[in-house]
Amino acid sequence: MHLIPEFPASKLPHVGTTIFSVMSQLAQEEGAINLGQGFPGFPIDEHLISLVNKAMSAGYNQYAPMPGWPALREAIALKMKRLWDMDINPNAEITITAGGSQAIFTAIGALIQPGDEVILFAPAYDCYAPAIELNGGVVKWVELEYPHWNIPWDKLESAYSSKTKLVMINTPHNPTGKVWSADEMSKMANWILEKQLFLISDEVYEHITFDDRPHTSMALFKEIRQQTMLVYSFGKTFHATGWKMGYAIGPENWMREFRKQHQFNVFTCHTPTQVAFAEYMKDTTIYDAISPMYQAKRNLIMSALQNPVFEAVLTEGTYFQLLKWKGVSELSDVELAKKWTIENKITLIPISVFFPSQIDMRLFRLCFAKEDNDLIEAAARLNQIQ
Ligand code: GLN
Repeated sequence: MHLIPEFPASKLPHVGTTIFSVMSQLAQEEGAINLGQGFPGFPIDEHLISLVNKAMSAGYNQYAPMPGWPALREAIALKMKRLWDMDINPNAEITITAGGSQAIFTAIGALIQPGDEVILFAPAYDCYAPAIELNGGVVKWVELEYPHWNIPWDKLESAYSSKTKLVMINTPHNPTGKVWSADEMSKMANWILEKQLFLISDEVYEHITFDDRPHTSMALFKEIRQQTMLVYSFGKTFHATGWKMGYAIGPENWMREFRKQHQFNVFTCHTPTQVAFAEYMKDTTIYDAISPMYQAKRNLIMSALQNPVFEAVLTEGTYFQLLKWKGVSELSDVELAKKWTIENKITLIPISVFFPSQIDMRLFRLCFAKEDNDLIEAAARLNQIQ
């Protein structure tokens, strides 16, 4: 008799399918306008598509070197020099990844040992905590202060212990849209230095900020360079989230361990896309149009949204806007988001899922990276909600 072994206990017992997949599937089933999962709803640059086609036709169809296409890593090093005066060795300090999430997962896996504590700020993007837990790390949560999402420095201090190994930050911040100021970044850099910690700075929305609020990168703080991993995303910047490509920049020793894991997990990323990005990035003006384009979209939907039951909460960057719902219901925010998808044909993301204890602050995230006519129709549907 053939006995099938019993599948062991889950390594992530509290984790289900991500809210993004759940809400996107429901939106599709219900024919709703999907302002839930964050992805652009408009075409990408034809020139970028033609560069990928050109690379395929020219025969760039085999494995790229494991850390990434050399010309692309050089283009990234040049960009970091231009923006932040950072001197990077592209051979040792940059790895091209299958999106920002894989960069984050691998950076954590390379560093975290069982029992290590990691400080996360809540609300936090949902891929951080599981990656820490899978490596035996322990998450210590610090809640950002609503509604401006300021860092509570005293609480940060109390979250620290001799076991703290890593702090993870994200600016521009998903899901709140907060952009950390240069002062906040500098204070954090000093704190990391003083406490001798490692830092992962998730900056995937680096090119999307509003109202002249500049993005400040941790790349600016040379004194913590040897303990900082920076994470970026081509998908967010060039509107091609489905291409799943990003990169990590970090010190040689951390990157060496990072690549040991990357090589046996992903090995290397899609070659023609990397060849195309290397060429595309030669035009340094492409970044200038991104923030104004998104700011116009944010303003468009927010001026069409005329419903006193929703109050806008901040948004200095990213393509997300938080709304506070002031209606009355017994339903949780997750249930409300599902109800609105089914009844009003409009999908938002409930924010409780980004808090460790699922605090329901009646906050919902909308993604405004959509065609203008969809934004106007979405606002009309949101205006019907009570
Ligand atoms: N980053 C996207 C968001 O915040 C989601 C990506 C995903 O679904 N994994 O909506």
